[in-house]
Amino acid sequence: MSEEIKNTEKGGISVEIEHIFPIIKKWLYSEKEIFLREIVSNACDAVTKLKRLTSLGEAQIDDENYKITVTVDKEARTLTVSDNGIGMTEDEVRRYICQIALSGALEFIEKYEGKDSKDAADNGIIGHFGLGFYSAFMVSDTVDVITRSYTSDTAVKWVCSEAGEYEITTDYTRDGRGTDVVMHIMENESEFLEEYRIREMLDKYCSFMPVEIYLKSENAKDDSSDDKKEDEPKPVNDTHPLWQKNPSDCTDEEYDEFYHKVFRDYREPLFHIHLNADYPLNFRGILYFPRLSHEYDNLEGQVKLYYNQVFVADNIKEVIPEFLLMLKGVLDCPELPLNVSRSYLQNSGYVAKISAHIVKKVADKLCSMFNLERENYEKLWEDLKTFVEYGCLRDRKFYDRVKSAIVYATTDNKYVTLDEYLEKAKEKHENTVYYTADVTAQAQYISMFAAEGIEVVVLDKMIDTQFINVVEQDNENVKFVRIDADVAGALKADGVAESNEKLCDIFKEVSGNSELKVTFELLKNEKIPAILNISEETRRMEDMMKMYRRAGNAMGDMKFPTDTSLVVNANSSLIKRLADEAESGGEKAKKIAKQIYTLALLAQRQLNADELQAFLSDSFDMLENI
Ligand code: ADP
Repeated sequence: MSEEIKNTEKGGISVEIEHIFPIIKKWLYSEKEIFLREIVSNACDAVTKLKRLTSLGEAQIDDENYKITVTVDKEARTLTVSDNGIGMTEDEVRRYICQIALSGALEFIEKYEGKDSKDAADNGIIGHFGLGFYSAFMVSDTVDVITRSYTSDTAVKWVCSEAGEYEITTDYTRDGRGTDVVMHIMENESEFLEEYRIREMLDKYCSFMPVEIYLKSENAKDDSSDDKKEDEPKPVNDTHPLWQKNPSDCTDEEYDEFYHKVFRDYREPLFHIHLNADYPLNFRGILYFPRLSHEYDNLEGQVKLYYNQVFVADNIKEVIPEFLLMLKGVLDCPELPLNVSRSYLQNSGYVAKISAHIVKKVADKLCSMFNLERENYEKLWEDLKTFVEYGCLRDRKFYDRVKSAIVYATTDNKYVTLDEYLEKAKEKHENTVYYTADVTAQAQYISMFAAEGIEVVVLDKMIDTQFINVVEQDNENVKFVRIDADVAGALKADGVAESNEKLCDIFKEVSGNSELKVTFELLKNEKIPAILNISEETRRMEDMMKMYRRAGNAMGDMKFPTDTSLVVNANSSLIKRLADEAESGGEKAKKIAKQIYTLALLAQRQLNADELQAFLSDSFDMLENI
């Protein structure tokens, strides 16, 4: 480019807006790097506009090798974005760069002057006012625009200082059509002259822009010897991201590869959903279900929002329902403005529709996997479960859509739906679902149920307690009962057990709980002398309190009496012996009763430190006398 100045005119940006620049700088301070996205996406638009004119036959172009080049020149302290797009005539520079943008700036100032700059940044109003180009001044002292319209043989050079003084030179020279935006980087913004930093920003914002972008470093120290010569330069972006393709043209390998690349997650995703909504919603995207290793592991997903392949932001919860933020994925919504404000998103009916559409697609996918490939679905269930349950708690519509695809793991490692479970249970325990919250601690109860052929499901996560409330609300007659909550009818033998006052008193005494409820039953399993029952209602209340306590809520300190009862098995030979011992009075009966009580406790939960200590010491004593 020669500095052949032929026709220069000086001008001043009018007085009212002399304070635009300080405000621009203040206003996007926290996200300064966005300037690059704005300048590169303008370059992209310039190419897209020219392509459109060409396809309409309104422009004739010899060279269709469209591209954008970002050049870092550390010595000259410039960062330049060049395109071979539509370019601008002098008149257009005046109109688009000087006037329209400035009227946008004025509107902006009127609205936001005096307000907290953070407020404006949070509301992301930059492009809203057609100010995108001016964001270059957040990092530059001076910005030059050298541009040549596709209709013109000469170029125009526009130079603007941070004070708003500009200079226009016409009849300038530029090789071919297009625009160079040369940003003279400020002294204290030198990070934007580092190639790695620019690459990082291009990676974040421009990875999928539709025009090839090349990054060049003008004065990079050449430490590569001849044999390490650069290959063909490669664009930093992928101009045809997978989400833009037709789902039927994409392979599983492509989906996985895209996932690894975009989310830098080496694990395989469980599966994906390719969203492809046409008119009137018109958005595309791919959502992945990541593999979760633990209940609370990695619930933080990442859903990237794009506007016509330009990155906007991560995890915009207005567009994607909160519970879906556990997923990873990309969404491209060309109907949303690029620099859209939070308040716009919150109040937009369009956004609500997108969100509802996504929820429906996710639920549909789960149902279709359940219906068409149940075996595979069951394999994934442990990973999906937390997500699905959380979604059901958050969004009743989601629950209604997926409820037929919700399965429960049983203690013998099968998966059943609620309907399947209830169908099998019809004869023995209609409308009751027995569950265990801890397969190890409640092993004795599980084996009692198994002996009677009763299926027990495993609900051992914190979220399960809340989730079964949702299911019970939806199925009024159905009750979830933990296996230690009630001696199921099916476990009882025929006949009525006689109660024994003496034994009652002894158990109250040795348990240290004079309020202990002691009942007598005839259980089929004669080996078991006694078991503890804890009422389902009070236990659920306790679980809730535990959760409150964990969350630091004062409600958690409230104490509820736990409705516990000791069910003594009158069929057990040990109990019969104990009854005889009790008749003859003496310490032996108490020792046996204490041991029976503690073993019942142990079969129900872990002993606390004092209980364990006493239990061990009593056991040693007994061994001595054996
Ligand atoms: P917006 O892009 O939101 O319209 P900007 O302030 O970013 O606002 O840009 C103002 C105008 O300047 C654009 O609408 C476009 O007409 C023109 N412009 C900016 N950059 C370029 C470019 N690289 N090539 C051609 N025209 C451009």
